[in-house]
Amino acid sequence: MEYGRGLAAFLIIKNVSSGTDRYDGSNAIVLAPGLCSGTLVPSTGRITIASKKSKSDGIQFADIAGPFSQKLASLDIAAVVMIGKSNSQNPITVVFSEVGTHIEKNMNLKEAVVSDTINEIRKEFGLEAAIIGIGPTGEHLLPLSSLFSTYPEGKVPEYHCTRGGMGDIFGSKGIKALVVKSKGHFNAEVLDKEGISKNAKKLGKIIVSHPICGGALPGYGSITLMKMLKQGRKIDLSKQSNISKNIKKYSKLCNINKTCSPICVIGCLNRHLKEGDNMYSSPAESEVYAALKEAFNIDDKAFASTINKEAFELGLDSVELVFSIALYYKAIDKNAKKEEIIGALDEIKKLSVIGRLIGSKTQGIYSFYSDKTNLKPFVTKPSVNEEGKFSVLIKSKPEYLKHISDLDYLYAMMTILGNFGICLFSAFALIENEDILYILSEVFFCKTGIKTEPSKIIKYSLNCMEREITFETNSKLDSVQKTIPEFVKVLYRYFDRSIK
Ligand code: SF4
Repeated sequence: MEYGRGLAAFLIIKNVSSGTDRYDGSNAIVLAPGLCSGTLVPSTGRITIASKKSKSDGIQFADIAGPFSQKLASLDIAAVVMIGKSNSQNPITVVFSEVGTHIEKNMNLKEAVVSDTINEIRKEFGLEAAIIGIGPTGEHLLPLSSLFSTYPEGKVPEYHCTRGGMGDIFGSKGIKALVVKSKGHFNAEVLDKEGISKNAKKLGKIIVSHPICGGALPGYGSITLMKMLKQGRKIDLSKQSNISKNIKKYSKLCNINKTCSPICVIGCLNRHLKEGDNMYSSPAESEVYAALKEAFNIDDKAFASTINKEAFELGLDSVELVFSIALYYKAIDKNAKKEEIIGALDEIKKLSVIGRLIGSKTQGIYSFYSDKTNLKPFVTKPSVNEEGKFSVLIKSKPEYLKHISDLDYLYAMMTILGNFGICLFSAFALIENEDILYILSEVFFCKTGIKTEPSKIIKYSLNCMEREITFETNSKLDSVQKTIPEFVKVLYRYFDRSIK
């Protein structure tokens, strides 16, 4: 049985040929809630969105938080496959609800910024509508564009834009937004409700009793992750109790979202207390702050907040934006300050040539200035490229998995979390827990009625990874062209059978 991220990949491979390019109508966008989204299993508000990355690449994935996944799963939808392109003048909105799925062609959302898009959609479909969509930069196919996803309604922040792009693929199909209109979050079909809730409690307990998932993340928010990038396991948790007290105080004053979706037992959202009374508006804001410091030596939280909000309104990956602007100014040998950063954002808004160049991400900028080899180290590379710099040590894993390397085990566990729809932030608590695969196999049985065992759960995730690699290889092989001299076009004509 296919499920979650594995199902998304399966459907891409089944429906999209390996020679398909990113913006081809025959490329597909697949959405697959995790197996446990829409149930009471904690922190399972994640959905996988997949599409073919390019002619010579395999699958691009986005792992997105928000109530969309729970609501879609509550309609008992295991996956959605979208193929083709809309020829409508206005970008379309696809609506899922208890009465079926339909396409709205007449919503006037062309080039609307993200907050206006959300407001218009909620006016039409109700305040509880969960939405995933794109901003104007996605409509104009900027590679820097990403997907936005709403948080639970009625609180701030209202939405976030994801890392890793894909807004341009939605734009190429003429899709502005996907909406789930249903009210319920936990109505997905479950065969053994009592059993799943018993195992959900066990899982929740493991997550909250971990110092990172139950302490640092809800205490500091995802800025914890920034600290861990520098300090690894040695992260200092000593100031956490004071911060938690402050958070409680301000949570009472402000109507803030502390979780991306209901029953996340971690709740790392909006926990980053700034100096003074202010909260960060989104976890990405802390990353933008760090990026501004690293790329421009700008240490200004208010400025980071402005850049993050402006980027989100345009539907951009705000962190990658900072690095792209930095690379652009390096390329033209200009020492950039705040004014130049705001100027670059304006160029993107205007869709000028400079704006489009910056919107092509660091890779696009570097290919434009590839004679300047000093820029190469500043091009963003996929995280997996850093693999060789580390020696991963998993302190505890089940005896029967001792033959799998710690690194492969780490990847397999990440895939398992995607398959079940569990937020990756829970990985700190779950990856080294020896009972986790057993609990998940019980959860699998309670949800589906199909007996399984821990080794099968991990085997499925290893098979998923292998299948993705094969698809990637086939795409590369398909795009290899024969290197025949251009003169051949004359010879084609000379030797053509039809010309006698
Ligand atoms: S852990 Fe944080 S990012 Fe993950 S679902 Fe919960 S609130 Fe969202």
